[in-house]
Amino acid sequence: MNERAPREAASDPDAAELKTQIVEYCKRKGALAVGVADLDAIDLVAPPGHRPRDILPGVRSVISLGVGGQTQGAWTVPTKAFAYFGSTEGRAYTIAYGCSFFIENRFRARSVYCPPDMDPEGGARIPLQSLKLHAELAGIGARSLAGDILLHPEFGYMYYASVFTELWLPPDRPLDSNPCPAPSCVEMHRKTGQTPCMKFCPVQCLSGDINERGEQVEMRYDMAKCAELTQQYEAVPAMLADAFAAPDGPARERALSDPDNALLWYKMSVGSGGLLAQCFECMRVCPIATRAPLADPIRRATAADKKA
Ligand code: SF4
Ligand code: SF4
Repeated sequence: MNERAPREAASDPDAAELKTQIVEYCKRKGALAVGVADLDAIDLVAPPGHRPRDILPGVRSVISLGVGGQTQGAWTVPTKAFAYFGSTEGRAYTIAYGCSFFIENRFRARSVYCPPDMDPEGGARIPLQSLKLHAELAGIGARSLAGDILLHPEFGYMYYASVFTELWLPPDRPLDSNPCPAPSCVEMHRKTGQTPCMKFCPVQCLSGDINERGEQVEMRYDMAKCAELTQQYEAVPAMLADAFAAPDGPARERALSDPDNALLWYKMSVGSGGLLAQCFECMRVCPIATRAPLADPIRRATAADKKA
């Protein structure tokens, strides 16, 4: 955390202590990083209708937490298995859900787990709230050249969840520096014009510029290309359209049930957490996601052993 001077400390002298208890609760439940985003800063960036007050009118604090991404072993599985490994965000949501109960029970302040879902009035690409913005402003992740995926200098790639509460807590600041691009990525970009995430994205939907100081200048991400490959809410309607347009019964059968498409029905029927996953190839080759000092359970356990 990167705490700044509390604006309301005079009227709420216990706020720092309450925040410590909330952070401890989240970490006990498995969060690696926890911070509080500045509500005014969120309002400056989030458009009307997507601000925390649009979910909880009396909100005074936005808590963001991150849980660890893949195990070290998961980064080594073959591509065809990789898309099933994106389901750990559920753990972040579970902690946030529990945290909202913890705050109401312990501090008697209204709280809600922030729904990570899409805005029913906005379609499949407009979320109710930006969990990414909350995490960034809470200082537990910075935007990367890989489609703005947040990366943390210590924990690498995490999944994020947010809690809104009417309890006032001292806000944190965004991270002072961005771990992306890593020095090896800067070097590669100078030589080839691409960083590892750009080079190994199967649909080439990433590009960007880096300045002479090795900092991001511009990140470009073709979300539609990424979504077509990785997000089945885009693939299912496309498959159904093919089936409707099929000239005859056998062609319709093929459109619905060839091996690739049958897999979608399988995923839906078992409720697979990989249904809406990324393909993860951009993160598999990312030195921060895979080799940050505490990026996976092996690294974290080794670091804990060294400390002991
Ligand atoms: S998830 Fe896959 S398709 Fe999307 S940006 Fe990463 S590598 Fe490219
Ligand atoms: S590989 Fe990772 S650190 Fe390197 S530019 Fe891409 S997101 Fe940033």
